[in-house]
Amino acid sequence: VGKQLYLGMDFGTSGARYALIDKEGCIRAEGKKEYPLYMSEETVDWVRSWRTTLFALLEDIPISLRPYIGSVSIDGTSATTIIVDSKTGEPLCRPFLYNQSCPEALPIVKAIAPPNHTVCSGSSTLCKLVSWWSSLNTTKIAAVLLHQADWLLWLLHGKLGVSDYNNALKVGYDPEVESYPPWLLSQPYSRVLPLVQAPGTTIGSMKESIRTKFGFPKDCVVCTGTTDSIAAFLAARANQPGKAVTSLGSTLAIKLLSTRRVEDARFGVYSHRLDDKWLVGGASNTGGAVLRNFFTDDQLEKLSEQINSAEASPLDYYPLQDIGERFPVADPKMEPRLLPRPESDVEYLHGILESIARIEAKGYNLLKELGATPVEEVFTAGGGSKNKKWISIRERVLGLPVRRALQTEAAYGAALLAMKGAAQ
Ligand code: ADP
Repeated sequence: VGKQLYLGMDFGTSGARYALIDKEGCIRAEGKKEYPLYMSEETVDWVRSWRTTLFALLEDIPISLRPYIGSVSIDGTSATTIIVDSKTGEPLCRPFLYNQSCPEALPIVKAIAPPNHTVCSGSSTLCKLVSWWSSLNTTKIAAVLLHQADWLLWLLHGKLGVSDYNNALKVGYDPEVESYPPWLLSQPYSRVLPLVQAPGTTIGSMKESIRTKFGFPKDCVVCTGTTDSIAAFLAARANQPGKAVTSLGSTLAIKLLSTRRVEDARFGVYSHRLDDKWLVGGASNTGGAVLRNFFTDDQLEKLSEQINSAEASPLDYYPLQDIGERFPVADPKMEPRLLPRPESDVEYLHGILESIARIEAKGYNLLKELGATPVEEVFTAGGGSKNKKWISIRERVLGLPVRRALQTEAAYGAALLAMKGAAQ
């Protein structure tokens, strides 16, 4: 047991990665693969591509470490949906990708779901299910709906129809009462919905054929996964209420661990369950993308060094790439505000970084107003997290300790879920 290792795999938007960790959380091996683009009838055969990538990642794990792998978990892109034959597991249609919209299904979903429910978006898993169901000319079909992570895990354990409550949120599952709601269960297509468990729950043993082919141990188990963005949050190990992760990438996203569930459709705020806590999230359209319009990453580094982060910048901007904002201000007509531009580039960058920090602070304040646990400490992920001056500007503006997260890869978060599952 002392040597046991835990395998996490992340199937993100642009490629897949694995991380193999030990009990202490140290990374023992990691790797990544791009998705091969197999074409079939002029579209990408994603099912084949993901399956190939899964086994390519397993091949990549050092042979000497494989006998110690006690458990595996996988995260996938949220709302990526595969509907398969419930006997053979063969896909019954092409998979629906995370960002694919089914506008024709939206009115049907809106007519059955409570107002502003998470499923009331054209790209929700439920809209995808309704779209598929409406295209059938028979209802005598034995099918089961799986999310991308569920399907990949199924390839490893072989028990059809298991999901986790993070992936299942967008199909309408209620993680608070741990069941599908009555308005969904009364629909004829509800019988294709998967069984739902907590993320990081043991589903079963790894299939013998795969175990022997790759050299995994006899007691290697496969555990339920989560979505890619939740796995990235888990990686930061912000595991007490009040701890948060701000992601400073092209856009700004905040995620806060809370004892209370918080939802507000106006701001696109909703909560995922994580055991006995809630992960409350909000995403702003501001972020690093705007910086790229003015500065190269090299310039960003050099100019940042000259910023006096102890002093507040008087410049008040609202950096946006396009018109419209949702969180922490719901205004679809909001215009970017990046003027006046001072002569000094250092002052300009200081103003932009300070303004984004103010938006971040406003975001955490809004979550508190909506009833979430107040934020106490902020970890940072994404391309902006390496900027030390920005971290100290944010510490001043937020009035909180801010640190760069040690781990930010979703694959690492999935490995932590595997560790959790192995301990059960
Ligand atoms: P994405 O959301 O596209 O995955 P990343 O997490 O890779 O983005 O972060 C990229 C962003 O990080 C860019 O928009 C860039 O402006 C920003 N960035 C890169 N270097 C710095 C820096 N030194 N300071 C602040 N922002 C930076």
